[in-house]
Order: sequence, then structure tokens, then C-alpha cells
Amino acid sequence: MAYSIRVHVPGGPEALVLEEVPMPVPGQGEVLLRQHAIGVNYIDIYHRSGLYKLPGYPATIGSEGAGEIIAVGPGVERLKVGDRVAYAGPLGAYADIRTVSENRLVKLPDGIDYELAASMLLRGMTVRSLLREVYRVDKGTTLLFHAAAGGVGLIACQWVRALGATMIGTVSSDAKANLARENGCTHVINTTREDFVERTRALTGGKGCDVVYDSVGKDTFPKSLDCLKPKGLWVSFGNSSGPVPPFELTALKGSLFATRPSILAYTATTQELEENAADLFEMVLSKKIRITSNHRYPLARAADAHRDLETRRTTGSVILVP
Ligand code: NDP
Repeated sequence: MAYSIRVHVPGGPEALVLEEVPMPVPGQGEVLLRQHAIGVNYIDIYHRSGLYKLPGYPATIGSEGAGEIIAVGPGVERLKVGDRVAYAGPLGAYADIRTVSENRLVKLPDGIDYELAASMLLRGMTVRSLLREVYRVDKGTTLLFHAAAGGVGLIACQWVRALGATMIGTVSSDAKANLARENGCTHVINTTREDFVERTRALTGGKGCDVVYDSVGKDTFPKSLDCLKPKGLWVSFGNSSGPVPPFELTALKGSLFATRPSILAYTATTQELEENAADLFEMVLSKKIRITSNHRYPLARAADAHRDLETRRTTGSVILVP
């Protein structure tokens, strides 16, 4: 038998139930993975709560993991038993053993262990796509990034620093502000004390930013739009406070652009996946980026991990260990 954390009915953290399940069998093009670490991401909360639909119930949630291949199915060519691999995307991560299509896996280079991989692949590839593809950040760019001390946020702070751009980050406490600053965020706004639109306007000499990265959603809409220059780009990539409500296109005043990117679309082909991951691994192995992972729970305590993440008690990445 194997075991996994399953959701039978969408709901709060108590909807996560540890269960024994039959040992999975790899199908065509799939491998069997013994997982050593599992990433806990905000998307897991959307899946658990029902904000994002699951294909059916009961469902094993989780979209990120790292481990070793212990068997291969028919037609597997790229990978073999014993390979150390990780993935970001395929649903079903909250398990000790699972199957994954070989096309969705990246090999781990020396120097990246399982826990590090599960702390960074989904969040780090997201940051890479946000800063290098969704908008091409360079030295002259000024950007606003919400939740700068979160898992995605701390990686973004360091990647933006490496690019030489100016980052304004928002956080909800002084401790988080210090952390964001230590990780390279140029200016930090504590939203419990300061209005982020006024501060952003002041910090940019009234001009506004080239791009706003907003994963908070409901609570920061439409104010994030007021932080942009004319023709600036609003990147809405998450719903930590709830989804952005429907809005009139005229809200994009000043000829603003809007996009709603997903890491899945930016890593849809194996080539895109490998290129993105290679860039991320290089940033980490060359020590330009250090992954902060202070929150590690046994798999059976996935509900506690969810509680801490959704009540804003975590900074950096969160992992489960089977
Ligand atoms: P974080 O560690 O960033 O946690 C979320 C943070 O959001 C909190 O710590 C908190 O920081 C801030 N926040 C603001 N308002 C709220 C609220 N009402 N409730 C809870 N948190 C709030 O999470 P992740 O690193 O896992 O993900 C960050 C975001 O990026 C998520 O929205 C996620 O969905 C999105 N994402 C999107 C992807 C995509 O492909 N589109 C891929 C990966 C992540 P503070 O207290 O400082 O305000």
C-alpha cells in the first residue's frame, strides 16, 4: 500500500484526510516516484477549498514534489530507475509514492537535494517566468511586488536584485519587511501602516511603476492599477485574499495592459520546462538566490501547513516530508 492526503469534499484544512491507497502502477510514459519532499503552495489551498475545480473526488492535492524513480512504465525513454527528479504542476503530490508522466519531470543536478527542490521548483519557475517572460525586467525597470516576504516573494526579491532592477515590495509586518529587505527588495511597504498606492507614487516621483505583480487579488484590486505608469502592465497571478471581481475594461485607464499568467502555460512543453528549471538551478547553484524554507511538516500534518500558510504565518517556502 501507499498513502496520500485526500480531499473528499472541498473545505477548510480539516478536509485533508490521510488515507491508505493501493500502490499506484505507472502507465504509458509514466514513472513511479518515491517522494522525499513535497512543496506546499497556495494553489493547494485553492484546490482544497474548491476555488479551483478538481477533476473529481476523492482527490489527492498538491502540485510539487521531489524524489527518486523506483519503476518505469512502458515507453519511458528519457528517465530511468534511480534518477533524482522533481516536478511542478501535476496534481497528486501529497503522497509518499505516486506516478508522474516523464515529460513533466526535471532531473535534479548535484547540489540540489530533494527538500531544496520541493522548496523552490514551482515558486522559482513562477518567478523566472514572471521576470523573464511575462515582462522582461532589466536594470531600468521599477516594479511593485505584493507579498514580498512570501515563498514566491523572497525568490523574486533576490532575482530582481540580480537583474539590477528596482523593487517595491509589500508585506504585513515589520519582521516580514526586514526579511524582504535582507533578500534584496529595494523599498518595502508595510501595508498595516502605509497606503501602498501613496507610497509607490512617492517612491517613483509620482510616475508609477512599469509593472505590478499582484498575487493578492481581491484586497489589492483595483488599487494595484493606480500604481502603474501609463501603458504599464498589471500581472494578476494569484488570489491569496480571494479572486479579483469582474471589472469593466475601462478600469485599465491610461492604456494599461493586463495579463493573468499561469506557470503551467509557461512550462507547457518539456523544452520550456527544462529551460526554465535550468535557469533557476543556475541561480541557486551560483548562490545568486538562496531559498528560505523555515516550515517543514510531516505529510500527515498537511492541515497544519495549510493553516499556517493561509493565516499569513509563514515566510519563504513550505514543505511536507513523507
Ligand atoms: P505566500 O508564501 O506568498 O503566501 C501568501 C502571502 O500573501 C501571505 O504570506 C501574505 O503576505 C499575502 N497576503 C495578502 N493578503 C492575504 C490574505 N488575505 N490571506 C492570505 N495571505 C495574504 O504564498 P506562495 O508563495 O505559495 O504563493 C504566492 C502567490 O503566488 C499565491 O497567490 C499563489 O497563488 C501565486 N502563484 C501563482 C502561480 C501562477 O502560476 N499563476 C504559481 C505560483 C504561485 P503578507 O502577510 O506579507 O501580506
